[in-house]
Amino acid sequence: MNDSYLKEFEANVASVNDDKYVVLDKTAFYPSGGGQPHDTGVIISNSSEYSVVYAGKFDGKISHEVAKPGLKVGDKVTGKIDWDRRYRLMRMHTAAHIIDAILYNEAKALCTGNQLGTDKSRIDFSLDVLDRHKIQQYIDMANEWVKKAIDVKIYFLPREDALKIPGIVKLAAVMPPEVSELRIVEIPGIDIQADGGTQVKNTSEIGKISLVSVENKGKNNRRMYYTVD
Ligand SMILES: [Zn+2]
Repeated sequence: MNDSYLKEFEANVASVNDDKYVVLDKTAFYPSGGGQPHDTGVIISNSSEYSVVYAGKFDGKISHEVAKPGLKVGDKVTGKIDWDRRYRLMRMHTAAHIIDAILYNEAKALCTGNQLGTDKSRIDFSLDVLDRHKIQQYIDMANEWVKKAIDVKIYFLPREDALKIPGIVKLAAVMPPEVSELRIVEIPGIDIQADGGTQVKNTSEIGKISLVSVENKGKNNRRMYYTVD
């Protein structure tokens, strides 16, 4: 939540269920959610490596599914996330924020869903008329923002202050009311939203965004796939 670049950490095993679902007292593994897939990696204890094949959030706790039994409550462990996978997802994620903002600014198209992937990522949006040429232009505009090398700001705001920010309300309103502080991801000049995902520090890290395909998914629903390289 505070440092998307933390690749390795020390922790203690807090609980183990069915010999494979492991909760740590702290973790850098991102659990599947918000359209961003989980991290993979390893948990190391007494020089034994346990592959983490899935991480999910259950009852507010991040559970790591490991590939073999052996971890015990109280074990001191080192966690290492698969950085190649995670960093690609970070680049994809920050790219999604820029593309979503352009779709809204240029066409008043609202993002209705998204799913990041390592090969390609998906954005669903509402738009009356789908013009592939226009979508390509939006991607070109997104690449202009990437090239501006803007620092991405991540900070926390009390819920009531966050809700006053124009454009953030729609997203923040669906957050559970018990959340008193919202994590804000701001790309100054283009986008600000409440978000729990991992992001790059500077838009230049995204590289080049390419449009993969565009699809019609019914009356108002459009879908695009993009990638970064
Ligand atoms: Zn996001």
